[in-house]
Amino acid sequence: MEERIYNFSAGPAMLPEPVLVRAAAEMLNCGGSGMSVMEMSHRSKDFEAILDAAETDLRELMGIPENFRVLFLQGGGCTQFAMVPMNLMRTPESLADYIVSGQWSKKAAAEARLFGRVNVIASSEEQNFSCVPDLSNLPVSPEADYVYLCQNETIHGTTIKHLPDTKGKTLVADVSSMFLSEPMDVSRYGLLFAGAQKNAGPAGVTVVIIRDDLIHDDVLSATPTMMQYKTHADARSLYNTPPCWGIYICGLVFKWLKELGGLAVMKERNEKKAALLYNFLDSSKLFHGTVRKEDRSLMNVPFVTGNKTLDAKFVAEAEAAGLRNLKGHRSVGGMRASLYNAVSYEAVEKLVEFMETFERENA
Ligand code: PMP
Repeated sequence: MEERIYNFSAGPAMLPEPVLVRAAAEMLNCGGSGMSVMEMSHRSKDFEAILDAAETDLRELMGIPENFRVLFLQGGGCTQFAMVPMNLMRTPESLADYIVSGQWSKKAAAEARLFGRVNVIASSEEQNFSCVPDLSNLPVSPEADYVYLCQNETIHGTTIKHLPDTKGKTLVADVSSMFLSEPMDVSRYGLLFAGAQKNAGPAGVTVVIIRDDLIHDDVLSATPTMMQYKTHADARSLYNTPPCWGIYICGLVFKWLKELGGLAVMKERNEKKAALLYNFLDSSKLFHGTVRKEDRSLMNVPFVTGNKTLDAKFVAEAEAAGLRNLKGHRSVGGMRASLYNAVSYEAVEKLVEFMETFERENA
């Protein structure tokens, strides 16, 4: 096997090596079909088996209750920013409550304003999104159709660790960058979604998990057929040609997760990896984390030296040493290490060793 680098990309991100090896082995002939998955009809028995297995395995991994549907869609997280209000707001006068804890929830709120009224009921923008806002006793609007949050803000590296009391309102969550990194109680949400390209597979698939009663015809007028959850739920994600290859890779990732012991095991592994890096950051004289301790994400770890020139030097030298994609998001600068499921403990050890050396040489 060719040598692989240590990849800390925030997404598209590292995939488990056994998944890539299997996909390579099946590239020309998948499951005895004599075809690549990319060459199969999405209406064939071969592909239906792939789709069914992906859904069954995901249901098992996450313990998805029977009254929830699993949809494999396209358009990424950003399309969900529009689909959510189009399907869950009843009229253009409707109101939805948004918790704004970073750029992704801010974008989602802005998109929802295209369709109806939006009330920001909590925000940490004044703190530069370095923490999660206070979510105790939220001023949930009595007429709100839903309460929206982004549970893990990929850019800022914050996680909402305890879901807020939404006072009986449907909770909608963007879980893109923490999907499958730990167990989740799906029954607490009405709808959750995740772009696959972080923890589940390649770019091009968006997984939506939605409670039955939120799938209906009563959507905002002129909502395109493709933007209605009901279209995809009724057709079991086969209304039109789905992202077949992406679903296949997600399916292989789900099997890999099951073989490793499931999401509780992943959580333990992810906690160990994150602790290694955070402990180093807390003891370092050069580097420091940018997020309030209690809100730190297990998946995305932003850090800085406090000196932009030194940050750039670090990123360049790390790249040269085979530690890639450590540059922070263009909107915040500094560094960010994403520690998704496929990133090994060993990779984090290498990163910390490199940071220790850099600190000795540059402090
Ligand atoms: N939500 C979150 C939390 C994200 O991290 C991202 C992408 N990084 C998005 C939404 C947007 O996803 P996409 O690029 O798939 O539209």
